[in-house]
Amino acid sequence: MSFPSQQLLQLSSWIEVPAQSDFPIQNLPMGIFSEANTALRAATRIGDTIIDLAALQAIGLLENLSLPPNIFAQATLNNFIKTGKKSWSALRQRLLEIFDKENPELRDNAAAREKVLFSMENVRMHLPVSVGDYTDFYASKEHATNVGIMFRGKENALMPNWLHLPVGYHGRASSVLVSGTPVRRPMGQMRPDATQPPVFGATRLLDFEVEMAYIAAQGKPLGERISTAEAEDYIFGLSVFNDWSARDIQSWEYVPLGPFLGKNFASSLAPWIVSLEALEPFRVAAPEPVEPLLPYLQYKGKKAFDIHLEVLLKTPQGEQQSIAKTNFKYMYWTIAQQMAHHTINGCNINAGDILASGTISGSTPDSYGSMLELTWRGQNPLLLADGSMRKFLEDGDTLTIKAWAEKDGLRIGLGEVSGEILPAFPYDESQ
Ligand code: MN
Repeated sequence: MSFPSQQLLQLSSWIEVPAQSDFPIQNLPMGIFSEANTALRAATRIGDTIIDLAALQAIGLLENLSLPPNIFAQATLNNFIKTGKKSWSALRQRLLEIFDKENPELRDNAAAREKVLFSMENVRMHLPVSVGDYTDFYASKEHATNVGIMFRGKENALMPNWLHLPVGYHGRASSVLVSGTPVRRPMGQMRPDATQPPVFGATRLLDFEVEMAYIAAQGKPLGERISTAEAEDYIFGLSVFNDWSARDIQSWEYVPLGPFLGKNFASSLAPWIVSLEALEPFRVAAPEPVEPLLPYLQYKGKKAFDIHLEVLLKTPQGEQQSIAKTNFKYMYWTIAQQMAHHTINGCNINAGDILASGTISGSTPDSYGSMLELTWRGQNPLLLADGSMRKFLEDGDTLTIKAWAEKDGLRIGLGEVSGEILPAFPYDESQ
């Protein structure tokens, strides 16, 4: 089958889709919403219209899918994710049918439409999954090289293991926040002057990391493993992710066990999860491996995705402006390799777990995925349109990451993840 197929491209919905929308009928992302004082429930989206999946099931339009009753009348997608890949795909096919402009089932039923459709303006989006575990990788060769040069010098930039395995660590699941939630500047211990003792205070080097999160399906039991060939069956979808980082806390604390308080104060997730099925037309080959790979990390086929990412910064005084553009396809280690590596020791994966790619940087300075790299640790501050300079993020700044794929007139977007920096919580040294 060739993608995008003519049939897929020609589909259009009876719901209006604004030009350049991230959400044509071909997308059908999933999220959790509420409106007014009603309960949280599952939704998809076409254009700027929210489609209440709980209501769609309640009025009988999803009857032939053999889904458990009230599977969408829940505050997270975890239980729906557990129904498995065939079930997700069957839902997608049925939604393509119901919202096809030729289908009168819901289109011509005003009373039913009233129950099912909401304007994006009138709803609130929530964290789409209950995150049991969150793993962060370090899978961009350009990013790992840049950070390595800054933290350890050019000779030791890429550690000896880096080209042989996807390096990762276990992050903090309970501080994963939905887009729009403000982020407090963390305080902590750091050593800004290597000849002096460490000091305590608010981080001075607050940063973002452009990442792609992939939401896991229910994996295999503890002790078993998932191969690169099977890996994508265990991925419910992709979502844009910002792994906020305090570089001064991080660089002092990380030896020898890795990231801790410099990372676990907040990570932000976009509200929409886009399926691999919707992203199928945008598959591309990943970069060729530099070193031969052990068999468990080898794979066949195109396992990377051509997804554009753009970083936008809004200062308290200025307009939002673009500060970097990168692409998910630059990642050295694919999501299939990351999943296979994660489970090669028998580690289990649960529905709703987040695996994140690590910072996505390209090869040119305007494609770097963090302030650390964009300003080269503050040496080359960004000059913004409002005349202000930025080495790192300041209080009142709002950082937004957008992601979208585009080909042959088809645009499938992942929406955006955004967060404003609040000043550090007051600290009383006498307490
Ligand atoms: Mn990260």
